[in-house]
Amino acid sequence: MSDAESRPHVRTQAVWAGEGGVFMGRATQVPVVHSVSFGYDDLDEWRAAALGEIPGHIYGRNTNPTVAVFEEKVRILEGAEAATSFSTGMAAISDTLFTLLEPGRKVVSVVDTYGGTNRMFGEFLPRVGVEAVLCPTADHEAIEAAIDGGPRVLYLESPTNPTCKVLDIARLAARARAKGALVVVDNTFATPVNQHPLELGAHLVIHSATKFLGGHADALGGVVAGDAALVEAIFRRREITGATLHPDAAYMLLRGMKTLALRVERQNANALAVARRLKAHPLVANVFYPGLEGHPNHDVAARQMPGGFGGVLSFQLHGDFEVVKRFLPRLRWAHRAANLGAVETVVAPPATGSHVELTAAQRAALGIPETLVRYSCGIEDAGDLIADLEQALAAVG
Ligand SMILES: *Cc1c(COP(=O)(O)O)cnc(C)c1O
Repeated sequence: MSDAESRPHVRTQAVWAGEGGVFMGRATQVPVVHSVSFGYDDLDEWRAAALGEIPGHIYGRNTNPTVAVFEEKVRILEGAEAATSFSTGMAAISDTLFTLLEPGRKVVSVVDTYGGTNRMFGEFLPRVGVEAVLCPTADHEAIEAAIDGGPRVLYLESPTNPTCKVLDIARLAARARAKGALVVVDNTFATPVNQHPLELGAHLVIHSATKFLGGHADALGGVVAGDAALVEAIFRRREITGATLHPDAAYMLLRGMKTLALRVERQNANALAVARRLKAHPLVANVFYPGLEGHPNHDVAARQMPGGFGGVLSFQLHGDFEVVKRFLPRLRWAHRAANLGAVETVVAPPATGSHVELTAAQRAALGIPETLVRYSCGIEDAGDLIADLEQALAAVG
């Protein structure tokens, strides 16, 4: 895939990237450093470290050795100049938006962003005089017209949640750059195994590390990677707002990331197999997955997601919400829960999960049917997942 000397494969990077330091006692595994402070007998050295003139940690709200390894691993996987981490994905997103935007400036995005991000656009940014222009998600002409209106930031997600729409990141980033806007892409659904937004023209890439990066649904975290000056500005803000990633969580995320490529490759394959089977199933009204040839932006997805189409799909059942209520409890190999990207399959209807705050009419306006089910494939056997879905469909059909 890539030049083996200059850039190892993501499978190799996921294991080794960032872990090259000499750790306490020559440990081969990254130690969890709980110490809040880092001591200096030489005051000149302390001062130089505090000012960033020499490497060195000062205080745990700012930096920490375990957390720094996590940031370095993500930086390398995303091919970024710099990376900085956060206690959650939403902390990463909000500190990034509040760093890049100020009263009187505009952000352009789409209506289908992650629920928390959508609340930032609808509520918290307008409150400080930032206008959020939210376009119909799959309408590239509308997004380009909004970009021509001169926003400071273009904020994208692809594939989107929960209907797996695909945005042409290179096309929209080129337009935004021509207009002097900064391009930010939430890469949580795709992961660096499948998609590299920085290569497609983004200035910054964001992850909820809680999802695929960690992969085990047992640690919260967020990260921003990209242009060094922008990351520095975001880090300087996070130092003060204090949404710092805990070293225990950093360790869990690092441990999870060693198997990122293994997991995501299996999840890609599972999602494609499940999507193809459901597409052919008479009890399923519609399947949303960029890997299906019939997906409206399959060509774009195939170009910008060379690693695969991701582990998340969604499908629409015939009938009403009562069918969903009978169907979901019958699944044996799935948690009914709000997260995604874990080693276990996780299912959720938007009506109780990602879009629970909206009314049925608001969900309909976003193109989210009441009988939609988001299905985040785990690393189980595809045949078992398909058999499980088929028995649950047969029971309600
Ligand atoms: C979960 C998620 C977030 C928010 O991440 P948290 O770690 O829960 O704060 C942001 N974007 C996407 C696409 C997500 O799935």
